[in-house]
Amino acid sequence: MRIAVVGAGVAGAYLLNRIPEEHEVECFEMRPEEKWYTVCAWGTSEPYISAMVKKAGFNFDDYVLHRGKRMIVNLGRGDFEIKLKGLVTYDKHRLTHDMIRGHKIHWGSQVKAVNGDFRDFDMVVDATGLHRSLLPKIQNDVVIPSVEYQVKSKELPYDDFYLRPYSGLSGYYWFFPLGDGMAHIGAGDYFGKYRGELEAFIKKYHCEVVRKIGRPVRVSPPLYCQPFSSGKVVGVGESVGTVYPMLGEGIIPSMQCVDLFVENLDNIPKYTDAVLKKYEIYAKVYRFIKAKLDGRFSLLRYWPTLLSIFVHMKRNETRYGLQIRLLDILKVMKV
Ligand SMILES: Cc1cc2nc3c(=O)[nH]c(=O)nc-3n(C[C@H](O)[C@H](O)[C@H](O)COP(=O)(O)OP(=O)(O)OC[C@H]3O[C@@H](n4cnc5c(N)ncnc54)[C@H](O)[C@@H]3O)c2cc1C
Repeated sequence: MRIAVVGAGVAGAYLLNRIPEEHEVECFEMRPEEKWYTVCAWGTSEPYISAMVKKAGFNFDDYVLHRGKRMIVNLGRGDFEIKLKGLVTYDKHRLTHDMIRGHKIHWGSQVKAVNGDFRDFDMVVDATGLHRSLLPKIQNDVVIPSVEYQVKSKELPYDDFYLRPYSGLSGYYWFFPLGDGMAHIGAGDYFGKYRGELEAFIKKYHCEVVRKIGRPVRVSPPLYCQPFSSGKVVGVGESVGTVYPMLGEGIIPSMQCVDLFVENLDNIPKYTDAVLKKYEIYAKVYRFIKAKLDGRFSLLRYWPTLLSIFVHMKRNETRYGLQIRLLDILKVMKV
């Protein structure tokens, strides 16, 4: 098959290295190479991602910037600590760039529709993330606005991961260390409560701003991001909602989605079913968060949902890179 991958983000880049060799593949990226950047806080779970990165022919260890031991969670009425089980930051930009190197990339090619230029391709993969440029628009799509700075300072106040949830589970403020006096500080919130906060941090800790980035994150789960295919277009990654809604975490899920796509390359309905099954829990988490955001939440009503989310995360501690305790979840819920 001749396959066009549209979007050179984490999903597109991983896919370029996972498509079996008998297929011919080319990538179309809207940004010119010098302006292309991987907007993200670069946090992920090392034990889990290492194996996937290895399948693409890379050594994850070469890209790790900071290995976390604990995460301080500030609830506004005292901090508590979460023990970390593999959460790291890594140079996502360098790894993604290394993954696309050597492949045929059409830089500066914004694809808006699958027109005559794609006549000779058998399949066109929509890996455009939030943009979802080639698949039908999602009804009632939920996205969380966010902004982030990459900063450098000798006075950074934390030496490990730090998080401060906003009230009503509408988002959180983060500090992710990148080593060598650098960090990502960022905030994402449904109601945009963070305005001015990051700038105050920069001023207070005399930070040099290396880069200001930001874009909304899609939290609508795969169940509500259908269809995943239309004509010769098939979606992978955030374009089909593979972001864990509670954390805004999309690197590993987008790569997992690529694996499902590769396993079912010759059977797209089977791929669709596999994605819906794999991310079933995301729909549950999403409904839980949405009830909070819409002011419809009651602990009594959502207790079974909360328990199933807890059980899922507890069973997958290394997947999330965190020690999961029900008490901690309840504390965060009360914010
Ligand atoms: C501020 C922020 C912080 C985050 N932090 C984390 C984190 O720490 N850990 C984590 O796991 N997840 C995090 N996420 C989520 C994660 O970054 C995304 O879910 C993940 O990158 C999605 O991968 P993707 O390849 O599907 O899309 P993207 O990474 O968004 O890639 C899409 C690519 O497609 C290109 N493109 C878009 N439209 C077109 C078009 N029409 N034609 C051609 N090219 C196009 C874009 O330029 C881009 O290169 C964060 C997100 C944000 C916004």
